[in-house]
Amino acid sequence: MHDLIIIGGGPAGVAAGVYAARKKLKTLILAESLNGQSSVSPEIQNWIGEITISGVDLAKKLESHLRSYESDNFVIKTKEQVSAIKTKAEGFEVVSTGGVYLAKTVLIAAGANRRKLTIKGAAEFEQKGVTYCASCDGPMFAGQKVAVIGGGNAGFCSAAQLLAYCDSVTLLESAALLRAERVTVDSLSANPKFKILLNVELLEIKGDKFVTGLIYRDKETGEENELPVTGIFVEIGFVPSTEAFRDLVEMTDCNAIKIDHRTGQTSREGIWAAGDCTDTFYHQNNIAAGDAVKAVEDIYNYLQKKR
Ligand SMILES: Cc1cc2nc3c(=O)[nH]c(=O)nc-3n(C[C@H](O)[C@H](O)[C@H](O)COP(=O)(O)OP(=O)(O)OC[C@H]3O[C@@H](n4cnc5c(N)ncnc54)[C@H](O)[C@@H]3O)c2cc1C
Repeated sequence: MHDLIIIGGGPAGVAAGVYAARKKLKTLILAESLNGQSSVSPEIQNWIGEITISGVDLAKKLESHLRSYESDNFVIKTKEQVSAIKTKAEGFEVVSTGGVYLAKTVLIAAGANRRKLTIKGAAEFEQKGVTYCASCDGPMFAGQKVAVIGGGNAGFCSAAQLLAYCDSVTLLESAALLRAERVTVDSLSANPKFKILLNVELLEIKGDKFVTGLIYRDKETGEENELPVTGIFVEIGFVPSTEAFRDLVEMTDCNAIKIDHRTGQTSREGIWAAGDCTDTFYHQNNIAAGDAVKAVEDIYNYLQKKR
């Protein structure tokens, strides 16, 4: 019986692990990998304590900090995908690909994944022109015509990066209005290389070995057009990785785990959650790590009271 099982190996899972180890909690970390979402980023400039660091190096530093506590009392298991948590008399049974594990408390730090485009050609051309990370893949499209899908802040942020080196950037939004902040929209709209298409339905991604174009319908006129682009940058939001916990804890309509933001507690006693899998407003490495620390402090107090 563990005191705590932590699900996830991103910044939230790692930060929780470090605090749990230092509090001498009998802890098991179950994670598909010890990699946060930003590990694909070439440069992170807001991880406190590092002026600039690559995503890969940050992930390595987090991993080595976590592994420095490895012992019989503090076990890290990777390549584990948790599929369910069951309530038992003594605590919880966590069902994972590597086995079934018992714990008095559980912290879910399973993060999130990019929402994928599902139109024809999107899966076929992923990483062959269709990408989900402008900061990672953008420079490969220097001097080319590209499209950004999504008219929120993330879409405009990607467009701003791409405008620095692409020949042209066309942003497509399915709604008639943009969701991004006005000031951001105005600053980009002045750029002659930038174009916005509102109220469009995406139909198909065309290509040979790589993307050659994007077919869309103008919802107002019904007219179909092909946009000749070699890169398509998708910014249509995130999906919390919470499928396995759906019937266990209360969630928002977007499948984010509802938590008490003072403590990280979920709707079910004995289960906490932290980071991008929760209903927190802001998705950042420092926030995920800090919220996980807060949760472990609360878990520790909870376990002390139970003893
Ligand atoms: C391209 C990109 C660049 C970014 N750049 C920055 C930046 O510069 N600065 C910044 O502050 N933030 C940045 N972010 C946001 C930041 O990466 C996230 O806010 C942060 O990673 C959230 O941490 P997390 O631990 O909650 O989740 P994640 O990083 O998503 O980690 C989740 C972990 O849970 C594991 N997992 C998921 N489901 C299961 C399961 N069922 N069983 C077991 N394990 C599971 C995953 O393998 C992973 O280890 C960026 C994000 C992206 C996508």
